[in-house]
Amino acid sequence: MNVLLLGPPGAGKGTQAKRLEEAHDLVQLSTGDMLRAAVTSGSEIGKQAQVIIDRGELVSDGTMIAMIRERIQNPDCMKGFILDGFPRTTAQAVALDLMLSEMDRRLDHVIEIKLDDGVVVERITGRFSCANCGTGYHAKFKKPKRKGICDACGGSEFSRRKDDNAETVTSRLEAYHRQTAPLLPYYQASGALSGVNGMADIDEVTHQIESVLEAA
Ligand code: ADP
Ligand code: ADP
Ligand code: ZN
Repeated sequence: MNVLLLGPPGAGKGTQAKRLEEAHDLVQLSTGDMLRAAVTSGSEIGKQAQVIIDRGELVSDGTMIAMIRERIQNPDCMKGFILDGFPRTTAQAVALDLMLSEMDRRLDHVIEIKLDDGVVVERITGRFSCANCGTGYHAKFKKPKRKGICDACGGSEFSRRKDDNAETVTSRLEAYHRQTAPLLPYYQASGALSGVNGMADIDEVTHQIESVLEAA
């Protein structure tokens, strides 16, 4: 099963992708995570991407398509994948369709996690993660069970993304509406699109996604 999660920054794509990965034995393909790994490694792509990410704009289609093309051909993706953060433009969506048809594969479900613009800033500015294992948290909505200690690994160091600030979020949201939202009618036409309410609590969103996956 191959799933695509769509939604604005802070919708819960990463949070839900992690849960689906475990529940259905799928591979999460997060282009945001791949780019952040490239930044950390100090590669040429990472250096160029960092400037763009920090402005809240989109990295070029050519770079992103090449990145996903290489990753999706990895044998671990044969068991099924969850795309989180790609495609973000129509050009990326068209390239993905072509890639998948060449591999004789397809997207089984495209799920839009719907979130009002008004709550995006609160979601993003409260987001942090464990510096050791990457588990995601939120200052208000998903605190570690014991203050300052990661639920998953017991670590006590946490980090925040540099682009998770109120100014950058405005550009990211603008990029979402202008460049990514046109994918909704694109996938609606393909018949694969469903929507879930991203304003509900984390467990309820998971429940709604599971209902979509069971339906078809
Ligand atoms: P979010 O959690 O806000 O949805 P991501 O972690 O998916 O953000 O992406 C962080 C940043 O990385 C984006 O703001 C953008 O600059 C870049 N990025 C990630 N995926 C893509 C993509 N498919 N196309 C272009 N830029 C991307
Ligand atoms: P995305 O990958 O779409 O940018 P994340 O999964 O990183 O979004 O979630 C953004 C922030 O909001 C994180 O801090 C996460 O813990 C929190 N979060 C995710 N889903 C919900 C939800 N349904 N209700 C409240 N907070 C949530
Ligand atoms: Zn941890």
